[in-house]
Amino acid sequence: MHYDIVIVGGGAGGLELAAQLGRKLGRRKGAERILLIDRTVFHIWKPTLHEVAAGTLDTHQEGLSYPILARRNHFSFTLGELAALDPAARTLTLAPMADEQGRELAPERTIAFTHLVLAIGGGANLFGTPGAETAHLLENTADAERFHHRLLTAFTRASFAPERALAIAIVGGGATGVELSAELIEAHAEFLDGLAKDQRFRLDITILEAAERILGALPEKISAQAQTALERKGVTVLTGARVQAVEEGRLVTSKGDIPAALIVWAAGVKAADTNPAFGLETNRLNQFVVNDRLETSAPGVWAMGDCAAAPWTEGRTIPARAQAAHQQADYLASVLTARLAERRHEPAFQYRDFGSLVSLGESRGVGSLMGGLGGPNFFIEGLIAKWIYMSLHLAHHRAILGTGKTIVLALARLLQERVSGRLKLH
Ligand SMILES: Cc1cc2nc3c(=O)[nH]c(=O)nc-3n(C[C@H](O)[C@H](O)[C@H](O)COP(=O)(O)OP(=O)(O)OC[C@H]3O[C@@H](n4cnc5c(N)ncnc54)[C@H](O)[C@@H]3O)c2cc1C
Repeated sequence: MHYDIVIVGGGAGGLELAAQLGRKLGRRKGAERILLIDRTVFHIWKPTLHEVAAGTLDTHQEGLSYPILARRNHFSFTLGELAALDPAARTLTLAPMADEQGRELAPERTIAFTHLVLAIGGGANLFGTPGAETAHLLENTADAERFHHRLLTAFTRASFAPERALAIAIVGGGATGVELSAELIEAHAEFLDGLAKDQRFRLDITILEAAERILGALPEKISAQAQTALERKGVTVLTGARVQAVEEGRLVTSKGDIPAALIVWAAGVKAADTNPAFGLETNRLNQFVVNDRLETSAPGVWAMGDCAAAPWTEGRTIPARAQAAHQQADYLASVLTARLAERRHEPAFQYRDFGSLVSLGESRGVGSLMGGLGGPNFFIEGLIAKWIYMSLHLAHHRAILGTGKTIVLALARLLQERVSGRLKLH
C-alpha cells in the first residue's frame, strides 16, 4: 500500500494536519493520497486528560472516532502502531495488534510513502526514579481512565474508612499537576454533595516539585498566584522536594516520606524509548531532531509536536505544548501541499509563543498572554482566563470538525452537564 503523505499519530498536531490536507485536496484526492495512522480508534485532545482522570470529562462524550473524522475531512485512516521505519526505502511497518483476549486484531503491515510526518507525541520523564513506573501516568486515555476508576474506588473506600481521609500525591508541579489537583478538588466536592453525612471524608492532596516554584515555565507572578489559589483550596505544595523512590502507599522524598493512597507521576517530558531505533537522529529525550523546516535527518521525513526537538531561541527547543503542535500542523500543511503540487514553498518555521493558561477549576484560571517574543505580556486571571483556556479546546475541535459542528457539540455537552452533573461517577 502506498500513500503520498503518511502521518503517524492523530493527536493535537497530527490530526489537525491530516484534516487540513484532506480538506485542501478534496473528497476523492484527499482519501487517495493522505493516510493517518494511530494506535487508538478514537481521538481525545490530550490537554483534557486530567479532566478525564478526575471524571469531570467523559471520554464517551468527548472522544471523536478517527474513521468518522477521516470521512468528514477527506483523508484515509488505519489503526496501527509504528514498529519500524526504513527512511531509505521509504517504508514503515505497523506492529500486529491483538484484542483483549489476545486474538489478532490487525496483522503486521508495511506501508510505502513519499512523505512521512511523525507526530507520535511523548510522555512523562521518570528520571530513572526507582518504582516510578508503578505510579499513575497521564500519557493517554487508557491511563486517565484507569486513574479515574481507581479514584472512584478510593473515594468510596475513604468514605467508609475510620479516618475518613484520602491522601493523593502528585509528582510534578507543572501545568498537568496543578490542573489535575484543581480538578480533583472539584470532583471530591461533587462526590461529597449528596453523600450520607457520616460518610464525608477529607481529601489531602500534595504536589511535589523538585524546582523552587511550581509552573516553572511561566512567569513568577503566575506561579505565586497559582500556589496561593491551590493552598486556599487545601492543597499542600512542596517545592524543592526531590522524589527519590515510589513505594507502595508512599513517596520517599528529600523532604521526608509522603504517605499516599494514590500517586500520580506528572513530571518531565520524554518521547518513546523506541524512537532511537527508527534510524533518525534523536536527542537524549528520544525526540527526533529536526531542522528549522521540521525535517528530520532523513529528507522527506518530518516530525512535529512533542516527539520533535525543533530549534527555537537561545539554543532551546520548542516547548512540548499543544499550541506548538497546532502551529506546526498549519506550517506542514502548506509545505506538504506545495510538495504535492511539485512546488517548493519552505520558509523556516517560526514558533510564536502566545503565552500559557492554567486552569484552576471550573470558574478560575491564571496565565499570561504574550504579544510574541519580546512583545507585550498580559497577566490574566479569573473567569476570563478560564474562558480563554476553554476556547483553545474549542479551537482544536473547530480545526477538525468545522465551526457549526463545534458549536452544536459545545451546546450538547453543556446541556448534558446540566442534566447529569459534571462528575462521571460510574
Ligand atoms: C494532562 C495534560 C494537560 C496538558 N495541558 C496543556 C495545556 O493546557 N496547554 C498546552 O499547550 N499543552 C498542554 N499539554 C501538552 C499537550 O497535550 C501536548 O503538547 C500535545 O498534545 C502534543 O501534541 P502531539 O500531536 O505532539 O502529541 P499527542 O497529542 O500526544 O498525540 C500523539 C498521538 O500519537 C499516537 N501514537 C503514539 N505512538 C504511536 C505509535 N507508535 N504508532 C501510532 N500512533 C502512535 C497517540 O495515540 C496519539 O494519538 C498537556 C498535556 C497533558 C498530559
